Parts: sequence; C-alpha cells; structure tokens
Amino acid sequence: MVDILVFGPHPDDAEFSMGASLLKFIREGRTATLCVLTRGESGTYGTPEAREEEMKEACRKMGVNLEMLQFKDCQIFDNFANRLTLAGVIRKHCPRVIFAPYHTNHGSHLDGTAHPDHTATGILVRSAARYAKFKGIAELKQKPWPTRHLIYYMLPKSLKPNLVVDVSDYMTEWEEVASSHQSQMQLRSGAVLKYLRDVRAMYGMFAGRQYAEGFFIEEPVVFDIDLFL
Ligand SMILES: [Zn+2]
Repeated sequence: MVDILVFGPHPDDAEFSMGASLLKFIREGRTATLCVLTRGESGTYGTPEAREEEMKEACRKMGVNLEMLQFKDCQIFDNFANRLTLAGVIRKHCPRVIFAPYHTNHGSHLDGTAHPDHTATGILVRSAARYAKFKGIAELKQKPWPTRHLIYYMLPKSLKPNLVVDVSDYMTEWEEVASSHQSQMQLRSGAVLKYLRDVRAMYGMFAGRQYAEGFFIEEPVVFDIDLFL
C-alpha cells in the first residue's frame, strides 16, 4: 500500500509538472510510486534507453518507487484493455491518492501540455480508478481497491488550479531532480528549467506564495474552518 500513486505518460512529465510537490510529500514521510506508461521514444530528444536511465535517476533522488509499463509513445488510447492495465496497477499499489495529467486540454499543437498522450492518460486513469473498485470485472484478479481521491496535474493554461502546493522550500532540490532528464534540457531552446520555474512563480502568485505547483480536483473538498483560521 502506498499513500500516493502518480501516473505519468512520459519519463519527465510528473517531475516537470509536480516534482517539487512529490519531493515535499516524500520528505514529510509519505510513500509514493510513480508509474510511467512509456519510455518517450517518439520524443524529439533522447533515446528510450537514455530516458529510462534519466527516469530511474530522478526517482532515486526523490525516493520514489518506479513502475514502468510497456505502452508505446504516442499510442496511449482509452480502451478496455488499457483501462484494465491501469486498474491492475491501482489494485497492486492500493493508493490513498492518485495523481494524473488533466484529462482535457484544448491547447494548440505547439503547447506541450496538450500532447494527446497526456489527456489520454488522464481519461484512462479516471476510468481505471473506477474499474479498480468494481467487484465484478472478471479480468481483474486482485482485490478491489477504492481510491479516495484523484487529483490532476499538468493543467491546461485555460484552467486555474483549485489546489496549490507551496513548494518554495523545495525549488533547489526539485531543480536537481528535474535536471536528471538531461536529454530534455534542450527543450524550449535550452530554457526549459527557467520556463518551469516561471510556471511555479505564476501558481505561487495566485496563492500569495513564492513558488507553487497547481492541481485540480473535481469532487468537492470537505473542509473544517480550522483550515482557514
Ligand atoms: Zn509528456
């Protein structure tokens, strides 16, 4: 059983989008598994072998368990077989919280967050989390598992987060983790880390913090007034 299960379509997605939060959760004593669906072999930079090594290094630095699946890059689709695969992962790890890329993104072809694999993973995980708790799916052999919360990361630019994590104290360590993906440092003309810092500064500004990572949850969150007092 783990506290947190993160699904990432490609080797760098979780670290680039929510890596500082993941670090914070781990350093605060939570357990986490990162399940990466592909080796990112269709990307512009890096061989699949190199990307796999980078992913392992990033997970080692964070203290996160890594589970790699055998999906093909650019071929993640929402279908029954793939839902079963991810539901099997959920039943194996029994997480209390699941993270996945947001399921809808109307960004242009130039917007990296709108990669079809990202949205497809969000859709698949939503279905898989539901399948994981059903008792009557004969193809699923492990014990059913109801995950309480599904939280989305990698939000489209048009969606304001309704949850943010203050990661101001973790930016240095997060940059060290993100830099494990050496092959991807050529993205955005070599300024990818600056871009990712700027995104965190923007989310931080929304909440009056220096740096934050943004998330979206679809079910109402129960709160007590203590949270705001
Ligand atoms: Zn990606």
